[in-house]
Amino acid sequence: MSQPDIKQRDAAELAAGYSRTFRAVEVSAIIAFWLLSAAILVKAWPHVGAHPWVVLTALFAGFLMADFVSGFVHWLGDTWGSPDMPILGKALIRPFREHHVDQKAITRHDYIETNGSNCLVAVPVAAAALLIPLTIEGWEAPALFALLSIGSMIFFVMMTNQIHKWSHLDEAKTPPTLKLLQRLHVILPPKHHSIHHTAPFDTYYCITTGWLNWPLAKLGFYRRMERLITAVTGQIPRKDDIGIDAALKPFK
Ligand SMILES: [Zn+2]
Ligand SMILES: [Zn+2]
Repeated sequence: MSQPDIKQRDAAELAAGYSRTFRAVEVSAIIAFWLLSAAILVKAWPHVGAHPWVVLTALFAGFLMADFVSGFVHWLGDTWGSPDMPILGKALIRPFREHHVDQKAITRHDYIETNGSNCLVAVPVAAAALLIPLTIEGWEAPALFALLSIGSMIFFVMMTNQIHKWSHLDEAKTPPTLKLLQRLHVILPPKHHSIHHTAPFDTYYCITTGWLNWPLAKLGFYRRMERLITAVTGQIPRKDDIGIDAALKPFK
């Protein structure tokens, strides 16, 4: 249920902010992402057979890290800044505002618009991971763990918006395999995600699997971060997303 003083931006105006230039950047980011991911696999492959447990734990750790990153980046995008800011605003903040005023818009986005910006965020991390040396004697296992956990994390970070999009599909249009994965809570279930889409949109930010939503809410993680950022910068969280009146509520 929305609160009476919630004031959001216009959906059509936000949707129109998706520029051709940014789309070209997204296409390049997607190509770079897949090339760098392949390079990580090629680099790790000769060491995989000797360390099966390292591989499995690294892949799982990466999955959990991706859920955390999905929540953290989503919280940043929902809470601070405005689509009117130069460069970052239109490209990276605008989609977060659009998603709160038109939840279904994401289901109409193609592969590039859905996954481009997440690939863009993942590319520098993938490039840095490739610098991890795997042949230093005595450090092979921890180095392999670092490389593969980062590789797994960026893979699931890339998958996050796709998983998020699936959680917004109409039930009748959701393929049975996805429904099963959602029901088993391997990927973000629609009902779980609907908690985030309740005004003032200030909790359950994790959108890969959502496993970390409950513990982070219990810890008051985002509220603590907001208090810190407000103390340092004077910025009011969610001011641009829900309007100053609703955003000021927790401070009254
Ligand atoms: Zn949100
Ligand atoms: Zn959503």
